[in-house]
Amino acid sequence: MKISFHGAARTVTGSKHIIHLNNGKKILLDCGLFQGLGAETLEHNQQFGFDPTEITYMILSHAHIDHSGLLPKLVKEGYQGKIFCTPATADLTTILLKDSAFIQEADIAYVNKRKMAKGLPPISPLYTIADANNVFPLFEKVPYGKHYKLDDDISFHYTDTGHILGSAAVHITIKENGKVTTITFSGDVGRYRDVILCSPEEFPQSDYIILESTYGNSLHEGIANTDDELYNHILETCIENKGKLIIPAFSVGRTQEILFALNKLEVDGRLPDLNYYVDSPLSVKTTEIIKRHAELYNKRVVRLMKEDKYPFEFKGLHMITDVEDSKRLNNKKEPMVIISASGMAEAGRIKHHIANNIENPRNTILMAGFCEYHSLGAKLMRGEKEVKIYTQEFQVKANIASIKSMSAHADYDDLCQFIACQKSSLVKSLFIVHGEYDVQEEFRNRLLKKGFKDIEIPNRHQIFNLE
Ligand SMILES: [Zn+2]
Repeated sequence: MKISFHGAARTVTGSKHIIHLNNGKKILLDCGLFQGLGAETLEHNQQFGFDPTEITYMILSHAHIDHSGLLPKLVKEGYQGKIFCTPATADLTTILLKDSAFIQEADIAYVNKRKMAKGLPPISPLYTIADANNVFPLFEKVPYGKHYKLDDDISFHYTDTGHILGSAAVHITIKENGKVTTITFSGDVGRYRDVILCSPEEFPQSDYIILESTYGNSLHEGIANTDDELYNHILETCIENKGKLIIPAFSVGRTQEILFALNKLEVDGRLPDLNYYVDSPLSVKTTEIIKRHAELYNKRVVRLMKEDKYPFEFKGLHMITDVEDSKRLNNKKEPMVIISASGMAEAGRIKHHIANNIENPRNTILMAGFCEYHSLGAKLMRGEKEVKIYTQEFQVKANIASIKSMSAHADYDDLCQFIACQKSSLVKSLFIVHGEYDVQEEFRNRLLKKGFKDIEIPNRHQIFNLE
């Protein structure tokens, strides 16, 4: 048996790993899009490094585009099997892939317009909305804990990782030459004591583990402070400075956490009397899905819902989908809070809001999650004084702040807790994926101290033999 890594290898996007059985069967774990890698991004996304027609089974860990975003290309290029995922992942992925396809088409239309003006031949998008629509009939929904037999030799089940709604670790059991091998793929691991989701679950002893490492070298601040942090930023920006608080937030997870925290401020009787806008059609849709999957909330939310039936709704909240309503926000001069996607400020309406508000020192741009190095969000967080948005340069005069405590990713304490259910001496190899290389090296040193022996940091397209 072999395993190969085709994305999220020494970087945090493009998650794609393949288990190769000796009989020729291949199991693809995730099929994510590379994002925010600068000039390399397109080339990485164009070349899988494997043949989609040779994949036997496709198992998806969760809906995030860096894990699911190349499924339309996989199907377009010949994958015909089922796509296994949890029910909530199917719901979220459907919305996210349609949105991603729309962006692919729009981006390429823009590029081609410029190419045509220079007399250059047009290029085609990675995939279209029609390609995305071919993915959805292939979804096979497998709930957490259900043992699913793929064939006589291969079975798998999911456990909750508490990262986003429906996120799962994949546990695969393979019989080969009379020997049983167990492999766990963590997907992305969430935090223990998340505000909305359940904590990551324990999982059975595995021979091989593929483990994410986004925050493998750092510790987050306590989650309990999120509503206080938000409150202080609203107070300073909107009440004292009479400015606008602009929050770039991922459509899945972060947006709902912010709404939940604002709702808590209302329950506590201290939510400032302002207008709060969620300005992103995608965030509005994903919030609806998260409201529909109350069976996945943790006990604290369930308890709260006995008193407050709508934990994501409060006075002053407006959900905006119409583009004209979005544009109208620019003309409003009063203090307000705008939550918009994307979280890295790389795409979507948030770019317009940042462009319109970045040169006013009364405003604050509040980053609420991980930002890839080349993204606009990362540039702002690094303190760059001038940034390019679309084709224009802007002076950064607004206050730039961040609430790191809101990360959906485990920090190293969480990751260590996640694998504490494993007897390290029985794990033959541990592969660290989904992290920056320097972070991964630090994380490896921590894991070595915990008794894990063979710890690899795979490079893109690297292949390893499994015993
Ligand atoms: Zn994720």
